[in-house]
Amino acid sequence: MQNILQHFQLGELNSGVSTGNSWLHSNGEKIVSSSPVDGKVIGTVQAADRAAYDAAISSAQKAYPIWKAIPAPRRGEIVRQIGEGLRKNKEALGKLVSYEMGKSLQEGYGEVQEMIDICDFAVGLSRQLHGLTMHSERPGHRMYEQYHPLGIVGIISAFNFPVAVWSWNSMLAWVCGDVCVWKPSEKTPLTAIACQRITAEVFAANDVPEGVSCLVIGNRDAGEWMAADERVPLVSATGSTRMGKSVAAVVAGRLGKSLLELGGNNAIIITENADLDMSLIGAVFGAVGTAGQRCTTTRRLIIHESVYDAFKDKLVSAYKQLRIGDPLDQHNHVGPLIDQDAVKAYLASIEAVKAEGGKFVVEGGVLSGAGYESGCYVKPCIAEVENHYKIVQHETFAPILYLIKYSTLDQAIALQNGVPQGLSSAIMTLNLREAEQFLSNAGSDCGIANVNIGTSGAEIGGAFGGEKETGGGRESGSDAWKAYMRRQTNTINYSTKLPLAQGIKFDF
Ligand code: NAD
Repeated sequence: MQNILQHFQLGELNSGVSTGNSWLHSNGEKIVSSSPVDGKVIGTVQAADRAAYDAAISSAQKAYPIWKAIPAPRRGEIVRQIGEGLRKNKEALGKLVSYEMGKSLQEGYGEVQEMIDICDFAVGLSRQLHGLTMHSERPGHRMYEQYHPLGIVGIISAFNFPVAVWSWNSMLAWVCGDVCVWKPSEKTPLTAIACQRITAEVFAANDVPEGVSCLVIGNRDAGEWMAADERVPLVSATGSTRMGKSVAAVVAGRLGKSLLELGGNNAIIITENADLDMSLIGAVFGAVGTAGQRCTTTRRLIIHESVYDAFKDKLVSAYKQLRIGDPLDQHNHVGPLIDQDAVKAYLASIEAVKAEGGKFVVEGGVLSGAGYESGCYVKPCIAEVENHYKIVQHETFAPILYLIKYSTLDQAIALQNGVPQGLSSAIMTLNLREAEQFLSNAGSDCGIANVNIGTSGAEIGGAFGGEKETGGGRESGSDAWKAYMRRQTNTINYSTKLPLAQGIKFDF
């Protein structure tokens, strides 16, 4: 790991605020990054104070007119080079993600691959960004719409995808002509600094001014400054529903735009017509991958009564085979939780399940001893519950899987939808009628609904996001780019008269 830290120039850093290649002076408090893998301190960073934050925003403001004047395909070419930079650094950055955040090495590499993929997507997009043309009701008139950049895009991100979420936002925002200011999670500052170094090198090589890519390492207060800042027309915030409600209210109070990607409480419906072996893979990976710390983690299995016991037995035996330990060791399936606070929340949730009447079929607990010194390794567990329990309605960011029994598909869909969140959902069935009902408007109410695929993960080509308390935002593929631009309708009169719309006469 030492050579990776040196490669990205990480260690004792006296500034966590950057406008590109420049790192600004700050008197903010020191943020210590410790690895949940072994509990060791990886590095320290000086967080932003208000003055450093303001200086970064001023730099972004100055860069914006220069950046937006560069043709979009040329901006795309620069994003293509960032993708190349990420390809070269995939191994080092992937390992750092795994060590600082605690996800498995394969998932660390996968996260960097997602960043590369969104760069590729954004390059193609840079030659599109298209509006529509409409037929005017007036003779000799042409009407169309076009998209212009917004300005500064503020990006607030969560610890669990410490770098991919930033790239989903920034690569699209950059080809759209916006400049970006990123406030990463205070739990994963070093991976963010590594990304800033990769990006800054590409921008400098292309003579792009400082300020197009700004980084503000800071605690929650830095996110609050951004939400309240009228110089930031769009705040894209990923994190808990608690955070999203606060950001949404503050941004709406100044009539700014927000793009919210918040908590999930995702379920897989396993019907009597499911392929149970396939369902098992989807359910187990969905529940324990990233130690249950994905927004798309499978938290609930809604299982038909006729296959309930058989599937429960399969699950229990699969859980017995899970190897928990160092995520950098590719033999292990499950790594640590992010920190001790997450472990406390996991334990409190287990108690809450028991207090409400839930019955554990695979017990949880914290692991100790050799290899588990960080105190962040917990056992994935499974409980039989009722959907209405308060704790089941809540997203616990840990590997606790709930089993719920159903008898009719209508009932299963009602259970699936019967939570405040609406991110990802899935049905396992080989029956066409069941699958189509689940996907119809009488089916899942989530932003993502899958058939014979679990809830966890997504491809960047589709729009990503969810409904209800998940916040309603869409990022990444499809037409998600439109959130980073303002739409303008244009009507051009090339006739010799000025007819008014709707036949109105105004003679004088
Ligand atoms: P968190 O809400 O604690 O923090 C997320 C970010 O918001 C951090 O950068 C934090 O500093 C900042 N923040 C916190 N309070 C703020 C406030 N009042 N104003 C402005 N900024 C504030 O979340 P976390 O623990 O880092 O991440 C886990 C959560 O993120 C889970 O709920 C998970 O489902 C969600 N998540 C959602 C998606 C998605 O796409 N829907 C993706 C990843 C994570």
